Amino acid sequence: MVNKDQLKNIAERCSQYRFERDSSLRSDVKSMGETVSSCENCEHFNSEHKCNLNLIDQILSNMDVKLD
Ligand code: SF4
Repeated sequence: MVNKDQLKNIAERCSQYRFERDSSLRSDVKSMGETVSSCENCEHFNSEHKCNLNLIDQILSNMDVKLD
């Protein structure tokens, strides 16, 4: 499973990241008044918690991150 921290790390590295302004479902991705980049507020992230472009696995495999 990809956790929230990983979703943030992925979005920071993703060239296709697009902030979804109308992300009322996921408005919790904020810290200190700033919006944090995360797949969770990317317009390519779908309701099944997957990337429409299937980039999550690709980026994860390029990252030196251990998957639990
Ligand atoms: S949801 Fe997909 S396109 Fe959006 S930041 Fe994550 S990996 Fe990139």
